[in-house]
Amino acid sequence: MNAKNSVISSKIDILYRDYGQRARELAKEGEKLIGYVCSFVPVEMITAAGCIPFRIRGDVHEPITKGDTLLETIVCPFIRSCFDLALKGRYDLLSGIAIPHGCDSMTRSYSTWSYGLELPYSYFINIPSVVKESSLEFFQEELKAFKKSLEDFVGHEITEEDLSGAVHLHNEYRDKVRRLYEFRKPDPPMITGLELTKVLTVGTSLPVEEANRLLDEVLAELEGREKPPTGKRPRILIDGACIDNVELVRILEESGANVVADAVCNGARDTFPRTDETTDPIAALAERYLVKINCPKTYRENKAGTFEGDIADRFGDIGKYAADYHVEGAVLFVYKYCDPFGFEVPARKVYYETIQVPMLYVEDLYSSGSIGQLKTRIQAFLEMIA
Ligand code: SF4
Repeated sequence: MNAKNSVISSKIDILYRDYGQRARELAKEGEKLIGYVCSFVPVEMITAAGCIPFRIRGDVHEPITKGDTLLETIVCPFIRSCFDLALKGRYDLLSGIAIPHGCDSMTRSYSTWSYGLELPYSYFINIPSVVKESSLEFFQEELKAFKKSLEDFVGHEITEEDLSGAVHLHNEYRDKVRRLYEFRKPDPPMITGLELTKVLTVGTSLPVEEANRLLDEVLAELEGREKPPTGKRPRILIDGACIDNVELVRILEESGANVVADAVCNGARDTFPRTDETTDPIAALAERYLVKINCPKTYRENKAGTFEGDIADRFGDIGKYAADYHVEGAVLFVYKYCDPFGFEVPARKVYYETIQVPMLYVEDLYSSGSIGQLKTRIQAFLEMIA
């Protein structure tokens, strides 16, 4: 298959490089797009309201200039980059924003986003930070309040049918992503990390029905793809928050590794948990977002009563991915000033030791300026585990 016939190297690549291209068209046609950051925004609710959820991404190649006039420079550089692009007009296609209580940088910058961008709709979703019966009850009420705010904005009711339909569509998307990840399991993998990162990034910039159709095309292409030539390359998992620019993956793969798994916010952390379709949609959404999304911002009780048991509970998904995708090394990539991940680094390091996966910890800025340095460290790590 040549590049012209390949949906990954043509359509996906174009939509990745010109992020929001389709969304701009839809905005011109009068569709309402709601921008969001983080995996905690219940996108199903936005779809159910008849709006289009649009994941705001940063740009490591764009220096943060305007954003720093309103946000402190000790705020996570990913959030600052997203905000900077929004202020510079990159996301003028949006009719509104929904920001969740993720990390403190996100929470505290909500007012700056809403005042700075002056969009017709903005909403702060109060996500509890502990997993308890009472926090689930609280969160269900919060979801109802989010629903009400969207109803007021669009001027019509969101029925239970609307919500169940949206839950189903977003589950379909996640099921297709799971199937995509199956192509990472062979050695060598049938899809590169670079390709997969682009597909997932593009997927969250489209209406979910269009994203589902695009994933069908990608899956069909992969089904027909010839097995790549064999040759031993280390199989790497990437761990961290939002890795929505491909630079880290590119460096790893150009340095001789195959990126075959992840535990990142715009990857498995977000796309693997499904919403239960057999129960009340609000209760099911509360369960999905609070219990099933495994983010360091959420405090989970130490049920095991020991440090070893606790880290096995908290990071067990990483161990599972490492086993399922035959991982031989991991890169824990944390943005400077990202407190939720920063606090967890020592415990994560111990966990990787217990599952005997060598791990490279990198703290970095969200900037292409540090790529040279990053390359040297990654090459040294790959040589070490070869
Ligand atoms: S690390 Fe947690 S709070 Fe931060 S973007 Fe990911 S899901 Fe959201």
